[in-house]
Amino acid sequence: MFDLIIRNANLPDGRRGIDIGIRDGRIAAIQANLAGEANLAGEAGETIDASHRLVTSPFIDPHFHMDATLSLGLPRMNVSGTLLEGIALWGELRPLLTKEALVERALAYCDLAVSQGLLHIRTHVDTSDPRLVTVEAMLEVKEKIAPYIDLQLVAFPQDGYYRTADGVKSLERALDMGVDVVGGIPHFERTMQEGAASVEALCRIAAERGLPVDMHCDETDDPMSRHIETLAAETIRFGLKGRVAGSHLTSMHSMDNYYVSKLIPLMAEAEINAIPNPLINIMLQGRHDSYPKRRGMTRVRELMAAGINVAFGHDCVMDPWYSMGSGDMLEVGHMAIHVAQMSGVEDKKKIFEALTVNSAKALGIEGYGLAVGCNADLVVLQAEDVLEALRLKPARLAVLRRGKVIARTAPKVAELSLPGRPASLDAGRNPTAR
Ligand SMILES: [Zn+2]
Repeated sequence: MFDLIIRNANLPDGRRGIDIGIRDGRIAAIQANLAGEANLAGEAGETIDASHRLVTSPFIDPHFHMDATLSLGLPRMNVSGTLLEGIALWGELRPLLTKEALVERALAYCDLAVSQGLLHIRTHVDTSDPRLVTVEAMLEVKEKIAPYIDLQLVAFPQDGYYRTADGVKSLERALDMGVDVVGGIPHFERTMQEGAASVEALCRIAAERGLPVDMHCDETDDPMSRHIETLAAETIRFGLKGRVAGSHLTSMHSMDNYYVSKLIPLMAEAEINAIPNPLINIMLQGRHDSYPKRRGMTRVRELMAAGINVAFGHDCVMDPWYSMGSGDMLEVGHMAIHVAQMSGVEDKKKIFEALTVNSAKALGIEGYGLAVGCNADLVVLQAEDVLEALRLKPARLAVLRRGKVIARTAPKVAELSLPGRPASLDAGRNPTAR
């Protein structure tokens, strides 16, 4: 009756001892496993025992740079570790990029992503070099990985839409080539006015082409960088509600509180999706400060409280801007808890949602979720619940795509040789469980 059954799983909503029956690549049944006996009828082709394990929908990275990933050290290392040297370094690397090398690095990253249960990625693709070799490469990657990762591409004018000689033309060409989303970087244009003009022009293009928008917006500590206000207003004017994302929004950290009390309701009215990148924001913002140093992450708690959809991105892994990262969205969530100081039980549950369902909403992913009829895309974690998953960043014991296991990792179990103590320790068991 089922192709596969995952037995006795814990779910993100707190339900425990649940069996998940999978048929034809979809979730066909979700039912409690009463008294330890399987009560899902029928014989399954394969069974995965998920006792004491959390089973979740896959992780989603709504903000990434796959054309830069794994380029660390090319052509040299970022000595200062700053955003500005990172941008300069990328400028040095850009003319040396080849399609083959871009594809190879991206595919290597996607192997890592799958092993981490990360099956949906939205990547910004730099359109500043009119050769558009980045776009050609990422379109090829998108096709190649389609069986296991859904990749969305954003046309991203890294050096500025108006600031780069062919910025306007190159972005249009990228969209003609099949890029899915309109990007922008208003705070990097020459003036505030040109930044605002770029937001207007890019929203107009999105409306005309029926595409979503996702801009790097106000990635700065400057409290007067207020392009998110323009982005929200143009979203409403062009009828793009719900289809627009503001990525980073770090200037909101430093804004005047009174101004923010007006801005957040405007963002809510425009149904803006907010995409902070906690790892990168804490690393790169506040660099001009002495002490105290600002955290530089946007106001996550306040945005969520206003009903704004917040989704966290990884942004970078081993590239000119960030030498760290491992494709682990739980590492992103772990940092978010610390930087946003969202350490309450309900806070942490919201952080987990920002790595999964909120991102699905921001990216408009269909068939996502833990419900009958959804795609059987699932991750079995070596942790008992979402709080433990965020604490441990545990092994992804099994990663399923359309009901097929596409990655397995052995559980982390330590062998102990201690007098009078157990012989082994399962890293995923909660030591405070009572
Ligand atoms: Zn970015």
